[in-house]
Amino acid sequence: MSARRDLVRAVVGDGTAVRVDPIACAAHGLCAELLPEAVTLDEWGYPVVDGRRLTAEEVRHARRAAAACPTLALRLERVAGTLAGPPPGH
Ligand code: SF4
Repeated sequence: MSARRDLVRAVVGDGTAVRVDPIACAAHGLCAELLPEAVTLDEWGYPVVDGRRLTAEEVRHARRAAAACPTLALRLERVAGTLAGPPPGH
């Protein structure tokens, strides 16, 4: 799996998924500071999410990280069922 594909992998917790829009992301790294439990940065400074379920507290941190993302690249989505995969076509 390529690093670009890793960018859009979802983290799911309590029906909430975190996604990163790799086009909009400007590699500030703020999300990794606000959600270090689930987001690391690749060698270019782009976020990579780990794909595991989040605890309720981590979901709160994820919401804060999404709200703080300066380019709105980090988004939370409601997800039905289990782990969300990459968006169609990726
Ligand atoms: S805070 Fe937003 S723009 Fe910055 S690295 Fe994270 S997703 Fe990308």
